[in-house]
Amino acid sequence: EWAAATTVRQVTLAAPRSFCAGVERAIATVERALDRHGPPVYVRKQIVHNAHVVADLRERGAVFVDQIEEVPTGAVTVFSAHGVAPAIRDQAAGRGLRVVDATCPLVTKVHAEARRFVARGDTVLLIGHHGHEETEGTLGEAPERMVLVPDRAAAETVPVTDPARVSYLVQTTLAADEVAGVVEVLRRRFPALAGPASDDICYATTNRQQAVAAVAVAVPVVLVLGSANSSNSHRLVEVARAAGARAYLVDDVSSVDPAWLAGAEAVGVTAGASAPPRLVDEVVAALRALGAREVVEHRTTVEDVHFTLPKEARSS
Ligand code: SF4
Repeated sequence: EWAAATTVRQVTLAAPRSFCAGVERAIATVERALDRHGPPVYVRKQIVHNAHVVADLRERGAVFVDQIEEVPTGAVTVFSAHGVAPAIRDQAAGRGLRVVDATCPLVTKVHAEARRFVARGDTVLLIGHHGHEETEGTLGEAPERMVLVPDRAAAETVPVTDPARVSYLVQTTLAADEVAGVVEVLRRRFPALAGPASDDICYATTNRQQAVAAVAVAVPVVLVLGSANSSNSHRLVEVARAAGARAYLVDDVSSVDPAWLAGAEAVGVTAGASAPPRLVDEVVAALRALGAREVVEHRTTVEDVHFTLPKEARSS
């Protein structure tokens, strides 16, 4: 079926791509819990937003649940990389669960900022997407004092208690451009607006977006490996499109429609922070089988970030 796209001669891999330090740590945390305690190990929500990662861990004995109530009393339970609201921690404690917290340290940092701003009396505006687990967890730090602002339109109308005491925070996986637009509106409405000490958009999000943009300006088509519920992967598609390429989000090689590649001599490939590297390898292998002779990597930066495992996973 891929025969339709025989024009492809070159593949350009964006780098950095695929797993970030927070995702590697979260997956290793579940693996370590399985090794130490044996299955089942319960995981609240998807450990990271990738169907392949979840399927692999399920195979090894992880049980994914949506609600703490689904976990048997006293069971080992991992919190996902996206973080949880304090109310969820209380619920888990109430059931006597043995919690291992795989929240990415960069999400934990945003929670700490939320608490700090709320403590000094601010209304905290969280720039982010509705219904995403990370924003739900962060808003949970002070539901009555924090408001989600998904876009510029919402920024124009969001009500605050005291316009002199307003601060903003940002979901870690957004695109810098969309955040800048929202902050601009907020700053116009609230000149005293305060923000995080350093950018909440994480290094991995920033690096993957810059890398895909550098590839997308030079190729007609970009394939982004990532699951449909992966926020950072969606942003990679948007960034690639803004740079002028046709871009598609695919869970794996089987979801690539060969018609997308018709007439293209070069194809760019990247992967969201939650998508395993082997998915990229499989796409490259398929493109080679089609006739791609040259596979090059376009690297925009070198990453050297590593997080230690959560303390509950470290002690032997
Ligand atoms: Fe952490 Fe960023 Fe990875 Fe999310 S994308 S897990 S915030 S490093």
